[in-house]
This record gives sequence, C-alpha cells and structure tokens, in this order.
Amino acid sequence: MSIERIVIVGTGHAGTQLAASLRQDGYAGAIALIGDETDLPYHKPPLSKAFLKGGEAELQLLRPEEFYVKNRVELMLGRRVAAIGPAEHRVALDDGSTIAYDRLVLATGARPRLPALPGIDLGGVVALRNRADGLMLRAATVGAEDVVVIGGGFIGMELAATFAALGRKVTVIEAAPRILGRAVAPQISEHLAASAVAAGVRLLTATTLRGLEGDQGRVSHVVTANGERIAAQVVVVGIGVLPNQELAEAAGIACANGIVVDRSFRTSHPDIFAIGDVASYEHWMAARVLRLESVQNATDQARAVAKSLLGMPADYRAVPWFWSDQGDAKLQMVGLSFDADEHVVRGESGAGSFSVFHYRAGRLLAIDSINRAADHMLGRKMLAAGFSPPPAAVRDLSVDLRALAEAALAERAAPVIAGA
Ligand code: FAD
Repeated sequence: MSIERIVIVGTGHAGTQLAASLRQDGYAGAIALIGDETDLPYHKPPLSKAFLKGGEAELQLLRPEEFYVKNRVELMLGRRVAAIGPAEHRVALDDGSTIAYDRLVLATGARPRLPALPGIDLGGVVALRNRADGLMLRAATVGAEDVVVIGGGFIGMELAATFAALGRKVTVIEAAPRILGRAVAPQISEHLAASAVAAGVRLLTATTLRGLEGDQGRVSHVVTANGERIAAQVVVVGIGVLPNQELAEAAGIACANGIVVDRSFRTSHPDIFAIGDVASYEHWMAARVLRLESVQNATDQARAVAKSLLGMPADYRAVPWFWSDQGDAKLQMVGLSFDADEHVVRGESGAGSFSVFHYRAGRLLAIDSINRAADHMLGRKMLAAGFSPPPAAVRDLSVDLRALAEAALAERAAPVIAGA
C-alpha cells in the first residue's frame, strides 16, 4: 500500500524534525503535524536557561513559520489527539473530529513527575516542561526572594544557577547523596555542586521533604523530613519525567516505561511508530532497553524513522550526546556510562576544565566533560568508530589524543595488500 498520509502526534523536537526529514528524503504525500501546545514548535532547552532571564531568547523557533507552508506540512496547533483507532487507521482529536493516516508516528514526549507531597498544588509551585510553564515560572519569580528547587538533576541545577544569577536565594533539595547521581561521574557531581555553592546556592543532598506549606493558596515554605522550614515563594519541581504513553496504551500498543519500539521505531502495531522522549528501545551501545531524554535523541530518531517509513535502510547507530549549562560550567556528555568499571580523569577539576572517561573492560563507553569541548567532540568520533584510547594516554595531558585517534583510525582504514 502506498503511503499517502503520515500523521505525527507531537510538535516537539522529534515530531518537527520528522516532518522536515520526510520532505528531505523525498516523501511527497500529506503530512499532518498535530500538537496540543499553541506555540509554533520551539527549542525547549533555553526554558531552564536564557528564557527565565526574559528579554533575550523569547522563543527560539525550531523552523520559521514559512517552513510549514513551503513544505506542505499541515501544522495543527492547540489540538490534542484523544484516541487512536489502529484498526480504522484514524486518530480522534479532542473536539471529536477524526483524521485518517496510513502511518502514525507518536512523538508525544514526556511530562514532569510530581512528588506526592502535601501542598504540591499550591500556587507558586511549578514543574517546567513547556513555554506555558516557563511563563508561569517567570511570573511567579517576580518579587520572590526565596526559591526552592526540588531535585538536583539537570533541569533543577540549571534553574538553580539561573535563579542565583538573578539574585534569588536558592535552595536545592536532593534526596540522593549527590546531585546528578544517576547521570554523571562522582567527580562531575562534586565539581558542579561546588560551583553551585560558590554561586550562592544552598545545596541539601540526602534530604527529603515532608511537605509544602502555604499562605492564602500560595506556597510560603517547604518542610524537610527532619523538620526544617525553608522559606519559598517559588518552588520548582525537577525530579524527572514520565513518558506520555497513555494514548498508545489505550490503543493496546505495548508500553513499558515508554512506548516500546524496535530498531526501526515500529511499535507493536505495524503502522504505528514512536520516537523521542516517549520511545523505549534496546540501545545498540548499552544492550539494554531504555529511553533517552535529549534533543540529539529526538532529532536523530526522527531522521532515522523518516527513512524507515519510506522503506530506506535505517540502521540506527547514533552516538548519544547531551549538554547542560550550569552557570559557568558547560557540561557535555557523550556515550552511555552504564556498568563502567574504570573512570579516568583528563585535565584538572580545580581549574574547572576536565573530562571523565568511562571504560568497561578496557573499552571506552562514555565521556563527561566540563568546559572541555574538544574532548567531547573527539569522544563523539571515537565512540562512533569504536576506538578506545588507552587510559594511560587519557591521563597524560602531554599526549595529543586527537592525533592518537586519527592515527589509529587511519591504520584501520588502510587497505590490506595481499602478499605485502
Ligand atoms: P517534546 O519536546 O516534549 O514534545 C512532545 C510534544 O507532544 C509536546 O508539545 C506535547 O505537549 C505534545 N503532546 C503530547 N501528547 C499529545 C497529544 N495527545 N496530542 C497532541 N500533542 C501531544 N535536552 C538536551 O539535550 N539538552 C538540554 O540542555 C536540555 N534542556 C532541557 C530543559 C528543559 C526545561 C526541558 C523541559 C527539556 C530539556 N531537554 C534538554 C530535553 C529535551 O528538550 C527533550 O529531550 C526533547 O524536547 C524531546 O523531544 P520530543 O519531541 O520527544 O518531546
């Protein structure tokens, strides 16, 4: 059956890139891009960075408005897909209307997880996912002196740095013994924690909350499990996200911490695909099922699913990478560090510029870098090529890693001459 109409649900990084990639790859049929946000598709990362400061970077669009017209992408903003009928090949919108598809791609992303705490519904408590949340947070911050951030993950620590730069008194409450504990090496956590403290942030690790207190419907304090009351006119929640998988679940599509997809991003229904934050898949680098939450993952999967939708070969082997800006520290991560058994530091954490190389059984798995963009960029190449520099060379700053990697890769590419 020829594909006449592809419907994409979700106008985030994944959905929007898919519309673009389909056209780049020569698809001439209809594309409907449906999203429940009312803004033209935009970049989400600035929401926890420049956006809060106002003025600059009001809204950075993913594509200019004319892109959708020129590329015949039917952009349906402010519309929620309420149900999928896999047998009928139709989606139902929240106004009762339905749209037919030949192939459906779910790029519904994720939403912030909220802790079950008394007072979590008070005014001034915000979980940041989209521009509407960002505007709410910006408004709540006007006139506020004390900000509490629940969760020392990427978004929480970025917000803490931003609020500190805005002159607010910031406290971060993290339940684990260290910030970013599940994502980065201990040395990176330590460095970012020290930078946050130096910027004036109060950091409470290994601390849980009893609840939030309010005054006339607005938050006034958070109360820790050991009874400390911390003043807060604004509370930001950053304790992770939940995949928006309910649409798929209701349609009988297999889900397990996300919508389960195969190597071509096909769900358990042959004509329905899923990509981006919502997609759960067996990662080629980690040999385990996971969901990644990053712009790189969303856009690379979109490019790959465009190819699989059009019947082109699409072996998805992108190397995952991620960044997080926290005050003066630019953290960049490449690869997946699960099950690493050796962590090798290059550079000096005291000088605010170093990388941690993660190895398992001598094989390079991932690199976390602070203000060392060159290590990160080289890491992308080395991991894509499967090259592992010896740990001793990594430790030794006098060794030119780039030259080492280039020489090793050139040797591998050299033709083998029979009899030579
Ligand atoms: P999303 O961008 O979440 O888009 C999904 C869209 O689908 C949303 O608009 C949602 O409202 C819509 N939707 C859901 N259900 C329906 C429905 N039933 N009908 C219609 N529409 C629906 N990543 C990085 O790599 N680096 C960073 O520095 C970074 N910073 C971040 C900072 C913040 C504050 C946030 C929130 C995220 C950040 N991320 C960062 C993560 C990155 O933004 C996400 O990984 C990326 O947005 C995922 O893209 P997506 O298209 O899968 O999902």
